[in-house]
Amino acid sequence: MKHLQELLYLLGSVGFIVGLKMMGKPDSARKGNLVAAAGMALAVIGVLFFNWVDDGAGGGSFEITGNLGLILGAIAVGTLIGTLIAKKVKMTKMPEMVSLFNGMGGLCAALISIIEWRGIISPETAAEAIPLGHYLAIMAGLIIGTVSFIGSMVAWGKLSGKLGDFRFPGQQYINMIMLLAILGAAYMNYGAAAEGNSLYFYLTIGLAFIYGLLFVFPIGGADMPVVISLLNSFTGVAAACGGFLYHNNVMLMGGILVGSAGTILTVVMCKAMNRSLLNVLLGNFGGSSAAAGATNASGGTVREVQATDVAIMMKYANKVIVVPGYGLAVAQAQHVVHELETMLEAEGVDVKYAIHPVAGRMPGHMNVLLAESNVSYDKLVEMEHVNPEFAATDVVLVVGANDVVNPAAKTDPSSPIYGMPILDVENSKQIIVLKRSMKSGYAGIENELFFNPKCGMLFGDAKDSLQKLVNELKVV
Ligand code: NDP
Repeated sequence: MKHLQELLYLLGSVGFIVGLKMMGKPDSARKGNLVAAAGMALAVIGVLFFNWVDDGAGGGSFEITGNLGLILGAIAVGTLIGTLIAKKVKMTKMPEMVSLFNGMGGLCAALISIIEWRGIISPETAAEAIPLGHYLAIMAGLIIGTVSFIGSMVAWGKLSGKLGDFRFPGQQYINMIMLLAILGAAYMNYGAAAEGNSLYFYLTIGLAFIYGLLFVFPIGGADMPVVISLLNSFTGVAAACGGFLYHNNVMLMGGILVGSAGTILTVVMCKAMNRSLLNVLLGNFGGSSAAAGATNASGGTVREVQATDVAIMMKYANKVIVVPGYGLAVAQAQHVVHELETMLEAEGVDVKYAIHPVAGRMPGHMNVLLAESNVSYDKLVEMEHVNPEFAATDVVLVVGANDVVNPAAKTDPSSPIYGMPILDVENSKQIIVLKRSMKSGYAGIENELFFNPKCGMLFGDAKDSLQKLVNELKVV
C-alpha cells in the first residue's frame, strides 16, 4: 500500500518507454502518444494522491502536499488551453506549436529551479549547507531551462516568419564568452548563497536569457531542424534536473527519455544535413529567407507545362515518385495526392513517395501529413533507399518541395546548403515541379533544378494543380 506511489511511477515510466517505442513507427505512433499520455496521467495521480507519510509508529497515511485546489485548477487551465490550441492548430502551424510547447517545458524547469532556490536561500543557510549535487541540479535546470525557453521562442518566431536571422561578426566568440560568464556567475552564486545574496542567481538567469537569444538567432535557413531537436533535448535534460531535485523517479525518467530522444534526433538531423553539431552552432550556416524571389543568375529558362500533358505523361509511366515538401502542407494537398496515387496505381503505375528527413518544417512532418490521408506506410521511402531508384523512374512529381531537391547542395561549394544530402530527382527521366512561383524555399536560395531541361513547372497552388491532374486523368 505504502509503495503505491512507486508502483504508479514505475507504470508511468513503462508507459513513456513503450509509448516512445511505438512512436518510432508511423502505424503505431498515434497509439504510442496515447500510451505515453496515460503514463503521464499515472505519474500525476501518483504525485498528487499517493504520497505516503510515516506516522513514526509503524503506520502512516497518504497525504496531499500543496494546495490541491490550486494544482487541479492549474491542470484544468493548462488542459483547456493545450486542447484548444492542439485542436485548432492548422497542419502548417504544427512546427510552431511544437516549438512553443517545448519552450513551455523549458520555462517550467527554470521556474522549478527558481522556486527551489528561494526555498533554500535564507540568511541562516550557509553555502556549505547546500548539498553540491542539489545546487548543481538547481543551476543546471535554471540555465538549460532558460536557454531552452528563450531559444524555443526565437525558433517559434523564425518558423512563423515573424523573426529573421540576426548575425554580427565574431558572434561565435561572444557566445563562448557568454557561456563562460554564465558558468562564472553560477560559481559565484554558490559562495554568495552563504550571505543570503541572490544577485548572482538572477545574473545567471539574465545571462542565460541573452545566451538563448544569441544562440538561436544566427542559425537560419536549412539548419533550423538541428536547432529544434537540440532545444528539445535541452528541455528533457532540464526536466530531468527537476526529477533529481525532487527525488522523483518518473520525472527523472521522463526528462532523460526526452533528453536522449532529442539528442538522437539532433544526431540524425546533423547527419541529414551532413553537418557536425559544432559546425551548425558555430558556423553561421544557413541562408536567410531574405533572398526569396531571386531570379535565375545563370540566365536559364524555365519550361512551363500544363496539367493535361503531365497527366498523360504519368498515365503512361511505369514508375512515378512523388517528392512531398513544405508546400504540400501549406496547400493541405495530402488527400488529393493520395487520390492521384490511387488512380495511377489503378492504371498499373508503380507510385512511391520519397521522404527527405528535413522536408517540411519539423522532423517527420511529411510522414505525419501523409499518414493523415492514409497513404500506405510502405509507400514512404527514406532518402538513402529511394535515391538509387530515381534513375529507373519515369516521372518525379515534386510537390511543394524546394531545398530538399536543390542540386546546389552537391555542385555549388558557395551555397549555404552545400554538403546537405538531397533527393537526386535530376537522375529521373522527367521532373515535374508543382509550386506557385519561382520563389525560393526556406533556405532562401535559387534552385537550378527548375532550369534543368528535363524539368517542367506546373505553376499554381499544389492542391489545385493535383486536383487538375486527377480530373485530367479521368478523361485522358
Ligand atoms: P522548402 O521550404 O524548401 O520549399 C517549399 C516550397 O513550397 C516553396 O519553394 C514554395 O514555393 C512552395 N509552396 C509553398 N506553398 C505552396 C502551395 N500552397 N502550393 C504549392 N507550392 C507551395 O521546403 P522543403 O520541404 O523542400 O525543405 C524544407 C526546408 O525547411 C529545408 O531548408 C529545411 O532545412 C527547413 N526546415 C526544416 C525543418 C524540419 O524539421 N523539417 C524545421 C525548420 C526548417 P512557392 O512560394 O513558389 O509556391
